Amino acid sequence: MTILDSDQMPTAQNTILLVEDNLSNITTMMDYLKAKGYQVLVAVNGKEGVETAQAQQPSLILMDIQMPEMDGLEAIKIIRRDPVIAKTPIIALTALAMAGDRERCLQAGANKYVSKPVRLKELIQLIENMLARSTN
Ligand code: MN
Repeated sequence: MTILDSDQMPTAQNTILLVEDNLSNITTMMDYLKAKGYQVLVAVNGKEGVETAQAQQPSLILMDIQMPEMDGLEAIKIIRRDPVIAKTPIIALTALAMAGDRERCLQAGANKYVSKPVRLKELIQLIENMLARSTN
């Protein structure tokens, strides 16, 4: 009889959900994340982002704020109210440079806030730190 070690079971540990409506941002970030060994799921608006998060339960979510249909703030609030995915680490991404923007993202429930243009090396560092913390 074989006992499967839980460490060897397939997990969604390294899956990142990128919720972003800008195609060139999607391509750039997806290529970089994949090169760093992450599995990447993409959703192009907040509504699709919430649905994908619920269906796939990613390890971490990168959430653009300005999107059509449902913006990132609304999507974050819905995710935080869903007990199954409420604890997923979320990094908000935004081009808005308005005062109070960071607070709005954090208030909605984002763990971190990164302003665009995103510096990919810094983003990866942040993702790695957050994933290390969330698996403890
Ligand atoms: Mn956008």
